[in-house]
Amino acid sequence: MGSSDIQLEMNFAGKTENRFRKTIDGGKFYLLFETAVPGAQMPAKDTVKELRALEEAVAKIPGVECGLAIPDLNENQEAWSAIEFASHLSEENRDRHLVYLSGRGRNAAEIGRQLAVARNAGIVNIAAVSGDLDNSPERIDSGRIFQQIMKEEGFFPGVTVNPYQYDPWALTAQYAKLVSRLQHDAGFFVAQAGWDTLKLQSLSWFLLTRSLFVPGIVRLILLTPERMRKLAENSRPGIIVSRELQRTLEKELSISRGQFEAAQLQRLGRQTAACRLMGFSGIQISGAHQPGQVATIAQVVSAALEEFSSFQDFLECYQSEMAESEVNSFQLEFQLFDRILSRPYPFDDPPKPADLPPSRPGFWEKAARLFTPGDGFSARRMGLPTARLCPKHNECGPCGGVRPDGSCENGKQECVYRKWFRFAAAADALTGIEKEMM
Ligand code: SF4
Repeated sequence: MGSSDIQLEMNFAGKTENRFRKTIDGGKFYLLFETAVPGAQMPAKDTVKELRALEEAVAKIPGVECGLAIPDLNENQEAWSAIEFASHLSEENRDRHLVYLSGRGRNAAEIGRQLAVARNAGIVNIAAVSGDLDNSPERIDSGRIFQQIMKEEGFFPGVTVNPYQYDPWALTAQYAKLVSRLQHDAGFFVAQAGWDTLKLQSLSWFLLTRSLFVPGIVRLILLTPERMRKLAENSRPGIIVSRELQRTLEKELSISRGQFEAAQLQRLGRQTAACRLMGFSGIQISGAHQPGQVATIAQVVSAALEEFSSFQDFLECYQSEMAESEVNSFQLEFQLFDRILSRPYPFDDPPKPADLPPSRPGFWEKAARLFTPGDGFSARRMGLPTARLCPKHNECGPCGGVRPDGSCENGKQECVYRKWFRFAAAADALTGIEKEMM
């Protein structure tokens, strides 16, 4: 389905209201429900009808601001892009939704064309993503897409981050990429899906210590047995199901499917409460595509937000019921702060060098310089042709698919951005490295 199928009868360039932005900038919590772009084989009429029904169900949710999130994942070049699909949402509500723009199979000219469609359709909230593995020489990475969005007026641009990193260099590379984009005026960020509350609090604390008060949305997945098994096979790069979580899920499933589904709803409710209490601005729920499901989830989420009104309430629940399944048995398990999820703020007691992996003496002293705004020192890429060595040709920082041990999502080799940070740490050249990420 090409762009000629899109009927755009209005130009929204002069429209200034953006309810998504107003809500998250105003410190209110936002609920996004993810819906997939259909394949080209789906009749357009049915597809649009289903999309509108979901939009209507989301609009009816009481008590919390809501919208749809539309990822740009479709591998079929003939299918709609996320922006083209979102152009079929009701005109008056397009500012409520978040749409992703991926570089997969696109060059700068095609990204420009997608942005023109978005502008004409009044789609303003756009998050840049690199897309899945793709060897096309044409592809453009999330950093370049973000820069292209920033050049145009009227958009509210977002970026993404994978906070689930268990290795010091992969974590610093990921954080540095985020900091760079937030400092270049990204309006919000979206954290990749996962099940590790420690990592979410680390991210929240890190941004706090850097005084980066930019709204953050956390992507959460409503698990079904089928989704659980697919994720356990590592079918989605960067989305990790630890052995401990896998065991808990299998146990829940062994009772009955109904019990499993109830447990997942409860898990989602608690994760949502944790996100709000840790200072995130909203969540994006993946896995609920039916209007009825959306209403049920909204009820569960509202109940959890009411139940856990203080961080202390949540901590008790976390320690007694959630922590065990969220423990990760990765070989490397680097945490930037100590006593995460046992104190509300990091200021009184910063991380200690003793918490760093013993095999890497002195890392913290070097990393500390990275986490302090740089003095202008220009850290070169230590001779690494990063874009050429990265299978995704990423030019502006690591993708979200880096594995827990810092290896590339495509093979066993070390992620080239992790390598760059490792070399930079060894050469005492971490300070100011964030400036190199764009
Ligand atoms: S080298 Fe790093 S950034 Fe490139 S695809 Fe692999 S994991 Fe992603």
